[in-house]
Amino acid sequence: VDMSEFRKLGYEVVDWISDYFTQQLSTLPVKPNGIQPGYLPPLLEKEAPEEPQPWSQVFQDFKLKLLPGAVHWQHPLFFAYFPANTSAPAMLADMLSGAINMIGFSWAAGPVSTELEMVMMDWLGKLCGIPEKFLHSSASGGGGVIQGTASEASIVSILAARAKIMKGRPEADKLRLVAYSSNQAHSAFKKACMIADIDHVREIPATSVHHFALQPEALERVMQEDVDNGLLPFFVSVTIGTTSSCAVDPVKELAHVAGRHGAWTHVDAAYAGSAAICPEFHQQYFSGLELVDSYSFNPHKWLLTNFDCSALWVADSAPLKEAVSLTPVFLRGAGNAMDFKDWQMPLGRRFRALKLYFLLRMYGAESLRRYIRHHVALAQYVADRVAEDPRFEIAAPTRFGLVCFRLRGVSNEMNMKLLNTINASGDIFLIHTELEGKVTIRMAIGSSSTQLVHVQQGWLRIQEAATEVLA
Ligand code: PLP
Repeated sequence: VDMSEFRKLGYEVVDWISDYFTQQLSTLPVKPNGIQPGYLPPLLEKEAPEEPQPWSQVFQDFKLKLLPGAVHWQHPLFFAYFPANTSAPAMLADMLSGAINMIGFSWAAGPVSTELEMVMMDWLGKLCGIPEKFLHSSASGGGGVIQGTASEASIVSILAARAKIMKGRPEADKLRLVAYSSNQAHSAFKKACMIADIDHVREIPATSVHHFALQPEALERVMQEDVDNGLLPFFVSVTIGTTSSCAVDPVKELAHVAGRHGAWTHVDAAYAGSAAICPEFHQQYFSGLELVDSYSFNPHKWLLTNFDCSALWVADSAPLKEAVSLTPVFLRGAGNAMDFKDWQMPLGRRFRALKLYFLLRMYGAESLRRYIRHHVALAQYVADRVAEDPRFEIAAPTRFGLVCFRLRGVSNEMNMKLLNTINASGDIFLIHTELEGKVTIRMAIGSSSTQLVHVQQGWLRIQEAATEVLA
């Protein structure tokens, strides 16, 4: 494919993308209906072709064979999981980043990707009101880095915490290390512990009594017990906006407990972190970050920055580098310049800062704040409707864009039947979780195209499904 042909095909793809957003998306089902695992291989050739095939045929197959197997995360009736927003600025940046395809693992391999990432992490950090110590410009040894996912942010934070305690405490023994979270933390925490080979992992119950937030007294109790048993607490994972119910752990109090035991505090705000750009949510949910060692959230969830872009800030980068930095001779860089390979697990990395640069400039902070507030208001609208309908109960306080509810006084099976009925047609998509063993339906409002009319449509569908299931 030469570049004159690329120019033509590129226009065709951009036209298709524009039509996808403006015309197709709202007419498509959110998720495929009637396909089963294994549906695709029979539709494709058995082997990669020996000879080039024409673009027209390839693009046709994309539309006819592949697209019907897509879940449309940008759909206005996508209420499943948490959102994964994209946007025009982010897509444009990704096209350019894909074209230049600079693998900026070191300053020398990508001076602009490295330096733009440092500036963008400072811009984003200031926008989110995170403490000065996390900014590159503070020259305090801390700073931000773009990881692929919140899971990777958790893993490197655990590795850094482990490196720090093993270095600072001569008596530290890997077999004695203990990591803590609430039982509402994302499974990414436990997986990170598996990968870091941490033997002792405590998932402390957080109950409905405290709106599923981890209680400092409970953490203190478990940590002290471990200390009394000769173990060594080293890592506490705190969540702002848990996946099941958007519970907010009290960061300040938990960080104090962790600090008293010499443990590292990591805050995972994968979804909810985007809301920190609004001062009112920052004040309500994000205080205490000055006490923590690492903080991460995913602009690729709710901040219009397409996957992947997970922001991680560390107060001190030394332990992180101690944990994951290794420089063979062929990668030796420019002396004391920043080499982001030393802040992450892989070597290679994409030019992801460009997405943030385009996004933050082309929207501006105030319209991003309006965007977040819009979803929060829509969630509150749904929560109010749920509260008005006596057949339903709210299962956890509505926070950010997540509404958790269930049919009141019926079995888990009935609530699963409700969910399956809601989702049956494929033109709306919600998922469930369990809170204290009770099936709970989650309506996560945050798709970039979702408006009031769509949540009204969604709520109507939920009510109709309830009538059908209860009949
Ligand atoms: N942490 C929380 C609180 C989440 O909600 C999620 C995903 O929804 C994750 C971590 C994992 O995110 P990622 O896919 O970026 O690893």
